[in-house]
Amino acid sequence: MKEEKTEVELLKEQLFRKNEHFAKALSADETAAADAFCEGYKAFLNAAKTERECAAWIKTAAEENGFAPFDPEKCYQPGDKVYLLHRNKAVILCVIGKNSIGEGVRIVASHIDAPRLDMKPTPLYEQDELAYFKTHYYGGIRKYQWAAIPLSLHGVFVKKDGTTVNVRIGEDAGDPQFVITDLLPHLAKEQSQRTLSDGIRGEELNLLIGSRPFKADKESELVKLNILKLLNEKYGVTEDDFLSAELEAVPAFQVRDIGFDRSLIGGYGHDDRVCSYPAMQALFALEGTPEHTSLAVLTDKEEIGSMGNTGLQSAYLRDFIADLAAMQNVPLRRVLHNSQCLSADVNAGYDPTFPQVHDKLNAAFLNHGAVITKYTGARGKSGTSDANAEFLSKIRAALDEDGVCWQIGEMGKVDEGGGGTVAMFVANMDVEVVDLGVPVLSMHAPFEIVAKYDVYSTFKACLALYKR
Ligand code: MN
Ligand code: MN
Repeated sequence: MKEEKTEVELLKEQLFRKNEHFAKALSADETAAADAFCEGYKAFLNAAKTERECAAWIKTAAEENGFAPFDPEKCYQPGDKVYLLHRNKAVILCVIGKNSIGEGVRIVASHIDAPRLDMKPTPLYEQDELAYFKTHYYGGIRKYQWAAIPLSLHGVFVKKDGTTVNVRIGEDAGDPQFVITDLLPHLAKEQSQRTLSDGIRGEELNLLIGSRPFKADKESELVKLNILKLLNEKYGVTEDDFLSAELEAVPAFQVRDIGFDRSLIGGYGHDDRVCSYPAMQALFALEGTPEHTSLAVLTDKEEIGSMGNTGLQSAYLRDFIADLAAMQNVPLRRVLHNSQCLSADVNAGYDPTFPQVHDKLNAAFLNHGAVITKYTGARGKSGTSDANAEFLSKIRAALDEDGVCWQIGEMGKVDEGGGGTVAMFVANMDVEVVDLGVPVLSMHAPFEIVAKYDVYSTFKACLALYKR
């Protein structure tokens, strides 16, 4: 027998926000779909640990999905699929839509760079019979987290004759790895008095790379000599070639399921490959030709403010859209004005161990789906794009219509800190944009945590934008 609802219950039902998608998240079907989707994501994360490796992986995946290299001289037809590999560090994937490009494009923009340790231009030295690389950290890291963990080395040497030698060492079984040393607790009395942010200092992030001298001799720097000899044998390089190299030390860990229930994924570089992967997969999953020309922009340099010619402060995205506009004789500014973008980036997940940094009413929770972040920034919304209510209305209607599990959250309490994404640089082109992505625990740590269900929800959210 059904009981009558009370007046309070009825009013609550009518007026309170419903969290109906969260219940759906726990259904067996959705959970299985999320788990299956994340197997592909885990393989991507293991295979692509730097922006260059991501760009190469995405290019291959695009070609397998019928995308061809973009030719600005060509005139593309609805349904055509093209990609632009930009300086080997960023990729734009594009499906030409049915509508005139004057009606705007749909963009999902995410970044494929992640915090790491870059080798300095002159990295190699020997000190007290041990050989090291000097590093300069890239992006916002907590330096103490990067000592005493296994690191691998990735990147390129571009020799004077222009030939490129790829480096990837420390990932395959049997490969050697590298490490930054820390003090033993027995002798850390003085270091332990330092503040946490000063625990390991920038100039102490020295990568241990060897210890065996070339041969017993009275000569100096024999350990360094031995390292150079090995590098010369393997890569054909000399010490001069470091000047035109980009070598990055990243955590050597493999991606793993976390928890007895396997609901979470631990790995390096979730920020922001956990949004890049859904962005490209949503474009690959599009059935038929979309109404609007749809782009997945997998960009570089977000972690250092999107500066540089592979970041979204540069002209490359605008120029790509300009080429599309020119093909249809539409002014670029009209295309941009009518365009919509999800800036797909991660947000801080609520961490019950550190509740004090969050406003619980406006925090993003693991397993509650893709998180919409209306604005980022710091000190009174400084340095952000604050998404327009009109655009948010469209987005939440689309997500609800497609049954996407989503939530809305801020990055921490007011004045607790802050951060930024590419949203502001997209917004500066007069494109409607809002941040949406996956909540992360231990963001920017060598081993970050996300929930599988949120990764899958972000995929569905990207698809919802492309379909409209
Ligand atoms: Mn990010
Ligand atoms: Mn980041």
